[in-house]
Amino acid sequence: MRRFAILLLVMAVVGMVCGKAAAGDTLAEVKKKGVLVAGVKDSLPPFGYVDEKTRQIIGYDVDFVKAIADKLGVKLELKPVTSASRMPQLIEGNIDIIAATMTKTPERAQQIDFSVMYFFTGQKFLVKKGTVKTLADLEGKKIGTAKGSTSEQNVAKAIPTATILSFDDYPQAFLALQQGKVAAVTTDESILAGMRGKAPNRDDYEIPDIQISDEPYGLGMRKGDKAFVDFVNATLIEMEQTGKAAEIFTKWFGPDTTTPLKRNFTITADK
Ligand code: GLU
Repeated sequence: MRRFAILLLVMAVVGMVCGKAAAGDTLAEVKKKGVLVAGVKDSLPPFGYVDEKTRQIIGYDVDFVKAIADKLGVKLELKPVTSASRMPQLIEGNIDIIAATMTKTPERAQQIDFSVMYFFTGQKFLVKKGTVKTLADLEGKKIGTAKGSTSEQNVAKAIPTATILSFDDYPQAFLALQQGKVAAVTTDESILAGMRGKAPNRDDYEIPDIQISDEPYGLGMRKGDKAFVDFVNATLIEMEQTGKAAEIFTKWFGPDTTTPLKRNFTITADK
């Protein structure tokens, strides 16, 4: 009995020293420490990227976790993640939530929990203008994408004859396209539009109307972290009802931006 008590004490101290949040109650932990640590992309406009003037990470994903931190009355800390690192970072307790262009999939949902959908897009291709009209034009070609993404898996299925080059993140894949090392970059249309929109020679590139998947984004949380998942979902649904979610969409994808997109979704409890 005494040995068991000592073991428990040692485990508690180790847990505290490592600063890892127990998977069970992130909501209580975040309130206690006064800060929400979010894993975000730092080079994917307009979701998460470094603002040239302020050197702060800003974007659509950032605005959503900011709203959640505000509702909790805590500060927001942003930690850059990649497509491949975001789940391990969450599971290891280095971040409290993933807000990083992440698609909800059944495979991922075996390891983490997702919020309701807060953005919807689909996978397409970014190519040099006039080079690709149909999927057949990409047969046997080299195509760039990012490690650990759904894009990597979807394109391998859609064009089995293509050679897939997986980079750490999409900007490196775009560089390869600019250098003629790949015939296309493939990922979510919203990300491709963001990269194209920021490129000085954006008119040399286009996103043909070829879609190979649907990509509903969710915020990622630790598995079984029910109180936190419920809080985040309630916040997202409230943001839809007050118009704040649509306002954030217009800020980053509205007609006056370099990435104008249609808002073809609403945030609801059942998606
Ligand atoms: N949304 C896709 C995914 O979650 C592609 C974008 C990304 O790599 O984050 O894998």
